[in-house]
Amino acid sequence: MSRLDSFFAAALDRIDRAGQRRTLRSAALEDGGRVRRDGRRLIDFSSNDYLGLARHPLLMERARAWTAAHGTGSGASRLVTGTSEAHLAVEARIARFKRAEAALVFASGWQANAAVIPALLAAVPGSASQGAAVFTDRLIHASMHAGLAISGTRQHRFRHNDLDHLEQLLATRGADAPARLILTESVFSMDGDRADIVRLAEIAARHDAFLFVDEAHATGVLGPGGAGLSAQVPGGVDLVMGTFSKALGGFGAYVAGSRVMIDYLVNAASGFIFTTAPPPAVLGAIDAALDLVPEMDAERAHLAALGERLRAGLAALGIDHGASSTQIVPAVIGAESAALDLSRKLEERGLLASAIRPPTVPPGTSRLRLALRATHAASDVDALLNAIEACR
Ligand code: PMP
Repeated sequence: MSRLDSFFAAALDRIDRAGQRRTLRSAALEDGGRVRRDGRRLIDFSSNDYLGLARHPLLMERARAWTAAHGTGSGASRLVTGTSEAHLAVEARIARFKRAEAALVFASGWQANAAVIPALLAAVPGSASQGAAVFTDRLIHASMHAGLAISGTRQHRFRHNDLDHLEQLLATRGADAPARLILTESVFSMDGDRADIVRLAEIAARHDAFLFVDEAHATGVLGPGGAGLSAQVPGGVDLVMGTFSKALGGFGAYVAGSRVMIDYLVNAASGFIFTTAPPPAVLGAIDAALDLVPEMDAERAHLAALGERLRAGLAALGIDHGASSTQIVPAVIGAESAALDLSRKLEERGLLASAIRPPTVPPGTSRLRLALRATHAASDVDALLNAIEACR
């Protein structure tokens, strides 16, 4: 073993001893809200394919057609030869979908947040410590933290979804900063609760702050035509980010905002400039998803009803589901070992409900993160509730 490998082995051993070692297991999405793992077909409560589009015939067909017409690779980064007509057309569609002036496609949601946030902050006059003041919800996604870490900007963190606390911080911090930026998610990935985006936009306007909302889990699912919660704000939100990898059944991400900001990001976001453009198959699937999603109100209503049913059932079992009001429902168990044990027993009974534990969620709040899909039937939710009851 090389010296470097011995460092890795020791670090891995520490992770192992803390009970936090993870390993990769294969799984394959199947129709009807099912997943295949270890040769078994399980009811899947762990994937983010909320509208069941990842195996939709129209998406698969268009991904094939655009591959047949344009090939498998985009050939270069966007500013070289990687920008095809399809990239520009998809970006124009996203801008319309999000009621924004312009939009930009990124290779992934992680990359979008990690690239856009430092680029935005770099435009603000002053150094990292004396430039923009950044206010973040305590539970924002790791990719936004990555963007903030790259920028070196200090965060003023407000308690999760506590907008009074945000207002207190805005009243006392960063008043002299050349710009103030609020970062949050519209639907929180591990809790399934929503931020009050309309009130956030009002607070941002009143304090002359800039609002950045990550709509990864709301895009396609919430808001008018599935356009996300930011679409409920009359004047819109300064910058919205969302993914194609969850409800839209594909891969990649977008940001949408003013024309000048998007033009600036093309020139400044390193995770946009120095990476190969998304390939035709990915764009074809996005294009097909954008044909379908605005018309999927029935699926969105079904998903909302499944969420209500699951929360009522968990409450009847005495299991905390936090403040969830969406298709993501945490069943908060507490101890890591108990959450892992329950997840394992459910899998034996034919249900996939992955345990999420620290550091992804705070210690003592290990949970099953239950993600509902429009392709689930009410009887799938009942099967899950019955199995949870039987296992505890
Ligand atoms: N933001 C949030 C809130 C997320 O939950 C995720 C993915 N889990 C991302 C960003 C990253 O998106 P992607 O998976 O497309 O990289």
